[in-house]
Amino acid sequence: MYGLKAIIIGSGMAGLAAGIAMRQAGYDVEIYEKTRKLRPAGAGISLWSNGIKVLNKLGLGEKVAAIGGQMNRMEYRSDRGEILNDINLIPLMEQVGERPYPVSRTDLQQMMLEAFGESDVRMGMRCVEVKQDGETATAIFEDGSSATGDVVIGADGIHSVVRSYLTDNKVESRYAGYVNWNGLVEASSDLAASDVWVIYVGQGKRASMMPVGGNRFYFFFGCRRPQGTKVEAKNIRAELQETFAGWAQPVQNLIAKIDPEQVNRLEISDIDPLPNLVKGRIALVGDSAHATTPTLGQGGCQAMEDAEVLCRYLITTNISVEDALQRYETERKERVKQLVLKARKRTDTIYNKDPDLTQEWYEQLKQEEEKDVTNAIAKIILGGPLH
Ligand SMILES: Cc1cc2nc3c(=O)[nH]c(=O)nc-3n(C[C@H](O)[C@H](O)[C@H](O)COP(=O)(O)OP(=O)(O)OC[C@H]3O[C@@H](n4cnc5c(N)ncnc54)[C@H](O)[C@@H]3O)c2cc1C
Repeated sequence: MYGLKAIIIGSGMAGLAAGIAMRQAGYDVEIYEKTRKLRPAGAGISLWSNGIKVLNKLGLGEKVAAIGGQMNRMEYRSDRGEILNDINLIPLMEQVGERPYPVSRTDLQQMMLEAFGESDVRMGMRCVEVKQDGETATAIFEDGSSATGDVVIGADGIHSVVRSYLTDNKVESRYAGYVNWNGLVEASSDLAASDVWVIYVGQGKRASMMPVGGNRFYFFFGCRRPQGTKVEAKNIRAELQETFAGWAQPVQNLIAKIDPEQVNRLEISDIDPLPNLVKGRIALVGDSAHATTPTLGQGGCQAMEDAEVLCRYLITTNISVEDALQRYETERKERVKQLVLKARKRTDTIYNKDPDLTQEWYEQLKQEEEKDVTNAIAKIILGGPLH
């Protein structure tokens, strides 16, 4: 279809990816964002090859490569530092046809905002309601104004307002049982090799570092916690020292080097798979459609895939907007459902929901063949729309 007007709610990765793709298709696109100043939630993100392929298609391949880290190996170590397995990721890249790139979120957001046109994102516009009449779809904002187009896209994250229109308010986010601390540090050899993603595991906890552009590591820690714990920034180093006491020296070095004021301390949640991703002329993309725990590193990559598939059906089919959105839902629903559930299961294994299963997983890690690990990752990547 030609000459469509799209109203996008939210300017995270999902909204920007959809916005860039639709503008490239020649559509009139308006993005509305509730905050006045964008601040990414989290310091870094690992974009696996399926997400990168979408960025390549949007013409952003060289830019993402320039801000990305060179992640050539993946290394699991025990809490004491013993190597459990060491995976060469180059054969994986050859298998799927593209590298993964871990990036700083600020760099990624800047790259995507520039590609869309930063001044074109309408800031301070909180959507409170959406509606449609068979010919058009409309978003209504807190200030009483509204925006009408052929299609409204809800890219408004895990607590989506647009989703409540599709699901009659029935979907609540679900606490995954653990806290994630993350941030950036300057890369150095007393932390990890510069081309490795290292993951220390033990006692149902994780501590990890991966290279991002600008000679930095994106780090994260994870540990089970009851919901609602709060720690002031000035006490975060002490909290990590206590939680990871006795762990290997590089983990201690990392804790000593972090800037506690810049650490994000997040309670991780997901949502149950949705029965539908679209209703008439209104569609969900990204976390509003399938917020997931980050243990597969696929949430943002799925947002990219959503944008690619949604835009493709709008461009290539010509029956109606509603029909194109239905095709989008048919292609995406099962894929995102399976990934949300797989990530949930993996989260429970990593974070000691059943300590026996977690111990079994540590044993498995020691025995896993390199090919089994890379094949499992390749299967997820190649299950996306761009093979
Ligand atoms: C700790 C952590 C690590 C992760 N690691 C990875 C990883 O390695 N790889 C990966 O692929 N994914 C990862 N993810 C997942 C990834 O971050 C998300 O899937 C992705 O950011 C979702 O983007 P989004 O645009 O859908 O949502 P968001 O980034 O939440 O953006 C939603 C936007 O909508 C705006 N908004 C909300 N409500 C309204 C409203 N009513 N009106 C207007 N605007 C509104 C918000 O302000 C926000 O800007 C991780 C997530 C976490 C928490």
